[in-house]
Amino acid sequence: MSKTKTRDLVVNSLVCEPGTRVEGHLSVGNMSDGTPIRVPIVLINGKQPGKTLYLQAISDGNELNGIAVVHKILQTITPAKLRGRLIVVPIVNVLAFHAKQAYNPVDNVKMNRCFPGRAEGTSSQRIAYHLFQKAIQHADYCIDLHQGGVQPMINEVRVRVGEKHQLHNACLELARVFGIGYILDQKGPKGQLAQAAPDIGIPTIDPELGGTHGWDNNSIKKGIRGVLNVLKYYGFIEGKPDIPAQQTVVNRFVTVLSDKGGFVYYKVKLNDHLKTGDPIAEIRDVYGNVCEVVNSPEEGIFWSHPVYPMVASGGIIGKIGTPINFI
Ligand SMILES: [Zn+2]
Repeated sequence: MSKTKTRDLVVNSLVCEPGTRVEGHLSVGNMSDGTPIRVPIVLINGKQPGKTLYLQAISDGNELNGIAVVHKILQTITPAKLRGRLIVVPIVNVLAFHAKQAYNPVDNVKMNRCFPGRAEGTSSQRIAYHLFQKAIQHADYCIDLHQGGVQPMINEVRVRVGEKHQLHNACLELARVFGIGYILDQKGPKGQLAQAAPDIGIPTIDPELGGTHGWDNNSIKKGIRGVLNVLKYYGFIEGKPDIPAQQTVVNRFVTVLSDKGGFVYYKVKLNDHLKTGDPIAEIRDVYGNVCEVVNSPEEGIFWSHPVYPMVASGGIIGKIGTPINFI
């Protein structure tokens, strides 16, 4: 499926010969004062031929676990060890990253609703366009590293094409191989890379590496193991992937709300298996009295909860992934 005719890996003006590595930038426009907007990119072209993996991080500007995964992969994978090619973008959403926020401040649009991008679109759509046209479409497999923003969330991998998509099984297999233990298999909103790339024949996953401010070492370790699993399983590097024998798959979320406003004292932890009616949290009023017990409306996995332990009436206590299946 690789599109280049020779064994050189070419991304815009960057040329990476077999057995070498190139670091550079992709120019995607400029700021009002003329400062260029440049997306960093690393190409590794293996000594031996093979397939091409595209790996990106920081599509949402405050999701930093992915870049720590990228750094470890870049330290580990040398051209001598690699069979095939790696295209790595450590920071997709450079402007959001500098602002320490999720969205690009120029257009205030979520990057992961912009793929495959538009040449004459908004700032985020242009970044998506340049990456998609010049880098992503060279790939045979694609990994888009995310996390649940700064909100605590389990480590999971998302498959964002629907069951009827031609590449659904290939994407689900890539998610299984990543091997983080939990998979959301649910068609996502339009504009996600994990839909746009499968639409041109590239199996793609969206690992969600927990959720935190800054870096979470546990999530980062799982992300590193996941990318190495993919590299081993699909023959990019030597070694046996470390894939759990059984992984949990859900296909939707139930949002759990509080009736009373107050402070949330959780009775469960992320990853807990809840049965219908299990108590999730006590709500205490401002004086510390219990005013409500919030129970699980369905059986499922306790998947995520807000950062702050207080809610107004109708506020979110957490999300439950359901129904529980295994792969
Ligand atoms: Zn994200």
